[in-house]
This record gives sequence, structure tokens and C-alpha cells, in this order.
Amino acid sequence: MKFTYEAYRNLIALLRECGYTICDYHNYMQSDKSVIIRHDIDLQIEKAVRMAEIEHDINVSSTYFVLVSSNFFNVFSKRNQAYLREICDMGHAVGLHFDEVKYDGQTNLVQAMEEEAALLEHCLGREVRSLSMHRPSKATLEADYKIADGRIVNSYGTEFFHDHKYITDSRRNWREDVTQIIKSGTYERLHVLTHPFWYDEEEQSASKRLKKFCTGRVEQCYDDLSDNIRDLEEFLRKDDL
Ligand SMILES: [Zn+2]
Repeated sequence: MKFTYEAYRNLIALLRECGYTICDYHNYMQSDKSVIIRHDIDLQIEKAVRMAEIEHDINVSSTYFVLVSSNFFNVFSKRNQAYLREICDMGHAVGLHFDEVKYDGQTNLVQAMEEEAALLEHCLGREVRSLSMHRPSKATLEADYKIADGRIVNSYGTEFFHDHKYITDSRRNWREDVTQIIKSGTYERLHVLTHPFWYDEEEQSASKRLKKFCTGRVEQCYDDLSDNIRDLEEFLRKDDL
């Protein structure tokens, strides 16, 4: 499968043709044949907004997990907070993407998850009802954490990680043939994870996409500086970057 929006739309169409109902973490039991669609936001919120728009146009509601401890963005900035609220306003859910690496071995991880979820709820002005792990360790995958007394669903819990067929495009690679899995009719419960970062109008190699991301960040950095330093061009012109 290509990493284009067209290919993604085709994937959704195939799921529907094959009888899958697009559900979320809370209502999938109401359908005999369901797919939960999840996206992780690790690097760039803008790409998630674009994916959310594309899904909105084809009546898909999914869950976007945002990494609140990211080095790449601040969820509380005016721009990013507006983006995340925009994703919610399109009818999608925003959940917490949690990076355990931030915490040492002494930390109560469930408590840390609940604290980060509370921060994200404040940021969104909405309840957070789902959580996924960023690059989970084996121990975390096996932990089957119960978060906020079950109010927050753990997408790596047994229910979603073992009782569903889980497919992911991690590191820009579908390790299994996703279209074949959908067509096969073998699974009644699918759990599909994509990373909107890799998708675009045209197919791009990983290196091209990453280079574009780095270059774009330099430009964004300049624009953000110009909001903070009066007459920035007296010190540094954008052309000189
Ligand atoms: Zn992640």
C-alpha cells in the first residue's frame, strides 16, 4: 500500500466493502464485524489535522493519540491547541500517547498516565477516554494497565491488542499485507494504527519526507522567532537560513 491519501481512502473503502463497521474503543461490541482506526501523533500535529479532514470528508471517525511529552511540539501552544480542538470538532476522539521512557523505575506509571491525561483534558477542554503507548516496552505491552478505574481505555490492553487483529504502519512499513488481511475475512475485529506523518498527496520516500519535515521546521522556527523578536530581519534574514 502506498503512503498517499488516495491509498488511505481506498483502504477505508475496502474495509467498508468487506463489511467492517468503523467503530471506536467504546462501541465496537455493538457491531459483529468492526475496525478501530487509530493514529499516533509523534512528530507533527499538522499532518494529523490533514488526515482528520480527509476522514471527515468520507464520514470516518477515528482516534488520534497525541504525545504530550514530545520534543517536537507543545500541545499547549495556541496553534497546537487549536489544531487538536479542530480534530475533536471534526468528530474524532483525541487520546493520550504516553512515553514511559520519560519516567524512572520508581514512578507509578498508572498515576503518571492519569496525570498526563488530566493535562490533556485541560488542553482539549474535553474528556480523554483512551490512551496508547509510544514505543512500548515488552513489560508495558504485557501489563494490561487499568487507568482511571477503567474510565480511560488502554489501547494496548488485552482486549485491543490480543483479542483484535492489530495492524500497524510503524516506521513507514506495513509489516503484513493490510489489504490481504482485510479481504481474507479471517478477522471479525481489526485494530489499525497509522502514523499520519508518512502520508501525503504524492508518495514520498521516507528520506524525502523526513528532509521536508526538517526543512519545514527551520522555516517554522524563523516564523515563530519573528513573533517574538521585533525586526528580526535586522539580525537574521529568512533567506540566510
Ligand atoms: Zn508513538
